[in-house]
Amino acid sequence: MSTSQQLFTDAQHVIPGGVNSPVRAFRGVGGIPIFIERASGAYLYDTEGKKYIDYVGSWGPMVAGHAHPAVIKAVKETAEKGLSFGAPTPLETVMAKRICELIPSIEMVRMVSSGTEATMSAIRLARGYTGRDKIVKFSGCYHGHADSLLVKAGSGVLTLGLPNSAGVPADLAKHTITADYNDLAQLTEIFKQWGKEIACIIVEPIAGNMNFIAPVAGFLQGLRQLCDEYGSVLIFDEVMTGFRVALGGAQAYYGIKPDLTTLGKVIGGGMPVGAFGGKREIMQCIAPLGSVYQAGTLSGNPVAMAAGLATLDIISAPDFYTQLTAKTEKLMMGLKERAVKAKIPLLTNHAGGMFGIFFTEAMQIESFAEVSRCDVERFKQFFHGMLQAGVYLAPSAFEAGFVSSAHTDADIAETVEIAEKVFATLS
Ligand code: PMP
Repeated sequence: MSTSQQLFTDAQHVIPGGVNSPVRAFRGVGGIPIFIERASGAYLYDTEGKKYIDYVGSWGPMVAGHAHPAVIKAVKETAEKGLSFGAPTPLETVMAKRICELIPSIEMVRMVSSGTEATMSAIRLARGYTGRDKIVKFSGCYHGHADSLLVKAGSGVLTLGLPNSAGVPADLAKHTITADYNDLAQLTEIFKQWGKEIACIIVEPIAGNMNFIAPVAGFLQGLRQLCDEYGSVLIFDEVMTGFRVALGGAQAYYGIKPDLTTLGKVIGGGMPVGAFGGKREIMQCIAPLGSVYQAGTLSGNPVAMAAGLATLDIISAPDFYTQLTAKTEKLMMGLKERAVKAKIPLLTNHAGGMFGIFFTEAMQIESFAEVSRCDVERFKQFFHGMLQAGVYLAPSAFEAGFVSSAHTDADIAETVEIAEKVFATLS
């Protein structure tokens, strides 16, 4: 079998950086990415047959574990009837109804094929609905790679130190105002100055693209109030948190109702899917009803809908999130306990099946500035130690991690044991 080293060298000749999405190239941690052959439940298997306990879960979608039998069955059965029609199918309405039921702030929803499309379309819709150009986003939050949103972004652009991408016209970027996550006083000043020109605020209700930063008490409520006062649209980007931190997403977790919500990842069960939805009055501005244009050849793809619906069935089971949260808590407590034993300062944070670990002496991390001060070099050593021993973590100190329902107590115990050994090697 080919090694990852050979495969990576080969890929780099024909794919920029050898990868189809930058963080996969391991630039954030150094070394060579592992090439995956297959996955099942909580495990990944690389092309050399080595098994890893996976805490990336395809960056979030695999909340029920890899290749879940019910999801694979739904995909196979649907695929046999044809892969794409470019015409309406009943499954799309079933999906839309499910989303509206599970997330009550969504009265109408449109399916797209990625999180990027969802946020890009939601921004256009907010601009079309309000007739305003300016948008507010937060430093370190990532909302996909649409031009307006690649300003002081998180995720790969943060990992690579490119928060303002080349190729984004300054004339467009000037409409994006960036604020500090969790700083309501600063945002209030921004609204005093430009409030009547601001089409929307887009926010990750839990910031998962600069590791894991939870909103401080009152922050999300404050965004809601400012949007109400100035007639701006509040967009919760729940591409990561949706169906991940709770069945109703972060908006259910914190009890705040946004005007628009963007979804992705879990909703496609691993197939390429995104969605944006919200208030009927706003959603009715989209073509063909209204004048905001948005479309997609593969949008609402039947196989993707089938994978997503099968996943939504699994996660709607009673106690799914209680159990998922308990697993994540067990992992976080285990890591902390072993870190204390090894005298390694470590902070953890989590909600539902999503978590963050920080190599820091700080007692809490609430801002982009604070996360930037964490020990990235120590994370790199930790990452490689874990990888070597068969635990796959996100290859960046600025990404959240994910636990699935397929992780067993034994997997978590094994992870913690491995972490103890790796902590002992950290300088
Ligand atoms: N929004 C958030 C909060 C995300 O985490 C991501 C991807 N990690 C996106 C949008 C973009 O989604 P996609 O990669 O599917 O385009």
